[in-house]
Amino acid sequence: MKKGYKIETLAVQAGYSPKNGQPRVAPIAMSTTFKYDSAEDLAKLFDLQASGHFYTRLSNPSVECLEIKMSALEGGIGAIACSSGQAASSLLVLTLCNSGDHIISSNAIYGGTSNLFGHSFKKLGIDVSFVNPDASEEEILSLRRENTKLLFAESLSNPSVRVLDFEKFSSAAKKMGVPFAVDNTFPTACLCRPFDFGADFVLHSTSKYSDGHACALGGIVIDKGSFDFSASDKFPAFNEPDESYHGLIYTKAFGKGAFLAKARTHVMRDFGMMMSPMNAWLTSMNLETLPLRMERHSFNGLRLAEFLASHPKVDWVNYPGLKDSPEHARAKKYLSAFGGVMTFGPKGGRAAAERFMNSLKLAAIVTHVADARTCVLHPASTTHRQLSDKEQAESGILPELIRVSAGIENIDDIIGDFEQALESI
Ligand code: PLP
Repeated sequence: MKKGYKIETLAVQAGYSPKNGQPRVAPIAMSTTFKYDSAEDLAKLFDLQASGHFYTRLSNPSVECLEIKMSALEGGIGAIACSSGQAASSLLVLTLCNSGDHIISSNAIYGGTSNLFGHSFKKLGIDVSFVNPDASEEEILSLRRENTKLLFAESLSNPSVRVLDFEKFSSAAKKMGVPFAVDNTFPTACLCRPFDFGADFVLHSTSKYSDGHACALGGIVIDKGSFDFSASDKFPAFNEPDESYHGLIYTKAFGKGAFLAKARTHVMRDFGMMMSPMNAWLTSMNLETLPLRMERHSFNGLRLAEFLASHPKVDWVNYPGLKDSPEHARAKKYLSAFGGVMTFGPKGGRAAAERFMNSLKLAAIVTHVADARTCVLHPASTTHRQLSDKEQAESGILPELIRVSAGIENIDDIIGDFEQALESI
């Protein structure tokens, strides 16, 4: 596609350009495999001497459409779509780290990512240091080890809705000589541009706003191509022959595309966390309305947060769009609008929170967040229940905290539902 198109245009058109007489809408390539005329043709693909699809665990036309579109939205050089957001985080870490390595992550992150890093990767010998996002740059740097390979954070954290101090984190990553990866699931490329603020990699759980209709699970890693693996002595696996790939040296063969090539040909090949073509197609279609939806989510989010903040039965509201939020100044610096996700605590603690949730009629209690339908969740008893009380407190998960995801319904109906549910407590 021509360079310079704006995000609304890319959301609709990037990823698929039909040729004369081809379907206007990209077809779904529900095929595990692809036919070639000669053994030699296929051998060239296996040797990475020619490009083309040969097996859907590695690449697929429908998945590729989504990868091109998401990469265009964020401004990357390419992307790899995965079966879930968790798979995308795994792909990133497993491409960068071996057993014995270390990563540093903000502790204001999704509970599932926190478990993945703090427990599952630990068992594989990849150690993590969690850092409070309020820590100073010196405190972040003090966690650096010889074997540190990544700094990770969420742009707008789930569920604490903290806005990342990009300047501090990207500066720390540069001083440590490690890539800086940002999970941009909540704001999406429409509201936040991590690559403009120093990130080398952007991740998404596309299951959230990207799909936006709660119908297709997925994740993606997008590479800006900014981290120079060939100039770093921290990543020998990128600069030395890969014996599992005929002695290929990724930085020599692929230059800026070294990470994407290694992630796909090595980690995706071996672990097989590929997105399904059906989910990729659904997500690509739904992305067409992402800019419109993010506008409405942000409008509804602000109105709902203002309503809650002025309600006598509400103790506190945490939404970066509120003028008196401690996050507001940073939110205005890094976000163009504030999205639909907020947390609040009703007066009366956990019991009141449960009564409120059980009284909702329009908004549903679901594990999900960030889709068209307004929904609520009690993180302390669900997404974050595997964390200890201390870990919950450190991640800002209070017992009465309710996470709200304002959908794109009419705001008067959403507020009406919350009003009647608050009356019940
Ligand atoms: N990152 C964030 C910010 C999330 O909110 C989630 C899930 O809620 C994930 C990653 C994990 O994504 P998935 O559920 O698609 O595996």
